[in-house]
Amino acid sequence: MSTQALEGLVPSLQSPVCWAEEDETVLVCTAVSDVTHDVKNFVFEPEGDQLFEFDAGQFLTLKLDIDGTPVNRCYTISSPPTRPNRIAITVKRVQGGKVSNWVHDNIVPGSKVPVLAPLGAFTLARKPAEKLLFLSAGSGITPLMSMLRTLYDLGSDADVVFLHSARTPSDIVFRSELAAIETLMPNLRVVHICEADYPSERWGGMRGRISPAMLQTIVPDFQERMTFNCGPAPYMEAVRRILGELDYDMASYHEESFNFDDPSIPGATPPPEGVAYEDIAAPAAPGGDDGVATFSVEFTKSGKTVTCRADENVLDAALAAGVRLASSCSQGMCGTCKIPKLSGEVEMNHNGGIRPKEVTAGKILACCSKPLSDLSLDA
Ligand SMILES: Cc1cc2nc3c(=O)[nH]c(=O)nc-3n(C[C@H](O)[C@H](O)[C@H](O)COP(=O)(O)OP(=O)(O)OC[C@H]3O[C@@H](n4cnc5c(N)ncnc54)[C@H](O)[C@@H]3O)c2cc1C
Repeated sequence: MSTQALEGLVPSLQSPVCWAEEDETVLVCTAVSDVTHDVKNFVFEPEGDQLFEFDAGQFLTLKLDIDGTPVNRCYTISSPPTRPNRIAITVKRVQGGKVSNWVHDNIVPGSKVPVLAPLGAFTLARKPAEKLLFLSAGSGITPLMSMLRTLYDLGSDADVVFLHSARTPSDIVFRSELAAIETLMPNLRVVHICEADYPSERWGGMRGRISPAMLQTIVPDFQERMTFNCGPAPYMEAVRRILGELDYDMASYHEESFNFDDPSIPGATPPPEGVAYEDIAAPAAPGGDDGVATFSVEFTKSGKTVTCRADENVLDAALAAGVRLASSCSQGMCGTCKIPKLSGEVEMNHNGGIRPKEVTAGKILACCSKPLSDLSLDA
């Protein structure tokens, strides 16, 4: 094919990068397809001719308006950064869930969706390794799929075991694509564990829930592998317990939870990447006349000033005082409550929801920032 014929098919090196300057951008849906009976894939392009730049494993925050109510949710980019013209998210319907059902029923080719730029530290890019163990359950497969597609596109010879847990064979996300990639990557092994048969398919593979014996059988050299784990809270808790029982070196363990309310963790706050759960200090005791300092927080745009305790997050104090601030995850992850700080100091414990250059520029995430002095915020 001539260079001329390739024009328009391959990205030009001159193309600007999507969200290089702007934190928020509008994506246009170009395709929707069924992945399983309750999982759909949504492909997007930028409105202009930009390219997408992100790390495999990062997520977008969708900024939706559902029946007049603004609502934000995080969805991992399941496509790889090696295909920068288009971007995909893969969404599982959650029973009773507000956004996942709305997305399934309303986003169609042509839909325009505002998103916040990619965030997240659960990425292969920052933790390269030759021997990898990808563990996932349910929709937690999406960041690992982005990582695997990236390795495949780059012609990597990394030694990867991709171990995915699903309820039934019909719930295995990306099943045929994983099988296809497995035939093309000599050092990739894909194993699925199903809890039960599907009426139309009896499951002949590993059955049940992941256990120490299962892990040792499927991946005898798991101790030598860098582990990436993503899924619902109970699955992730089980994996941590199993690895703990088998004396796995948790310095090689990385995880991302899709659940904000993780019952395994006191205070329901997952630790930042690379921080052990035990290292998280217990929260200060609540109370009124207990000697805890209080500070004033001025919101310049709304013209309101509220009182915030030194052991309280700015977002909580604002909401309690009736100041409306955009927020979503409350875990320092999604970046929705980012605010420019005009003056004062805070202690911020985020989970990757703000970039170092934004911190340098004086921005804070209200949901995970406690005041160290009086504050003035541009909100
Ligand atoms: C970093 C990150 C990446 C993510 N990536 C993905 C991804 O790639 N793909 C994906 O599918 N998801 C992903 N998620 C999860 C996603 O953000 C949403 O949490 C998920 O889609 C559910 O949102 P929802 O609005 O549909 O459910 P919500 O409305 O938030 O409901 C959550 C839970 O509450 C229950 N519930 C809701 N309303 C009621 C009610 N009235 N009574 C009782 N129970 C109720 C629901 O059944 C559900 O169990 C990710 C999450 C994070 C944090």
